Amino acid sequence: MTPRTKLIVGNWKMHGSRPANAELLAGILAARPFTADVAVCTPFVYLTETAATLAGSQVRWGAQDVSAHAHGAYTGEVSAAMLAECGCRYAIVGHSERRALHRESDEEVAAKARAALAKGVTPLVCVGETLAERESGQTETVVKRQLSVVIHTLAHCAAEMVVAYEPVWAIGTGRTATAEQAQAVHSVLRAQLQAATGRAAAMRILYGGSVKPDNASLLFSQPDIDGGLIGGAALKAADFVAICRA
Ligand code: PEP
Repeated sequence: MTPRTKLIVGNWKMHGSRPANAELLAGILAARPFTADVAVCTPFVYLTETAATLAGSQVRWGAQDVSAHAHGAYTGEVSAAMLAECGCRYAIVGHSERRALHRESDEEVAAKARAALAKGVTPLVCVGETLAERESGQTETVVKRQLSVVIHTLAHCAAEMVVAYEPVWAIGTGRTATAEQAQAVHSVLRAQLQAATGRAAAMRILYGGSVKPDNASLLFSQPDIDGGLIGGAALKAADFVAICRA
């Protein structure tokens, strides 16, 4: 029996409005209880309201990014201490959109993960290969390189992170990795985490990339897939709830 409770995290990306968020959160709350752990990662500006809505419920909340710096002249950035003040349980780091659009390096991603953990916010560390990397047989090399920098940076705290395998070619494209493809990568990542921490059996590795109500069960039934990071399907309560129940 797996010691790991499934975790389903909604990544709202830059979507939402006060009325839309209220409706979405009400729909999620109405569907409780969940057997999985459930969380939503909202745009920064909605964290306080989200916290007020979800406080005391089973549903946690988090951010989609965090600064690597503790404080200072970093216009536009938000620190881990600020996220902790908003009650965030999670901060996504290294999402492929940030790696690609904001040129975030493996080292910056790792520094963000360390900053989050230092304030008690669990980093949800995204790794994943592009289509070109997969087609040239580099998937393992790429994800192991991305994860190894974070493992090295977090050192004895590495077992505290949550990892999300998100093949870049499957994000927002409607093209999902097959359960076998995803499981193969997850098992590589778990072996890497085990070698580094000795505690990988208790660590959660999520899959992300066009997870929908109709493919979630098969993905989540794989031995090393411990839940999902959900983008598009996290914006409709009915779809997100169906995935949380999968
Ligand atoms: C994501 O943004 O992390 C994601 C997995 O998006 P989607 O589910 O839309 O592919």
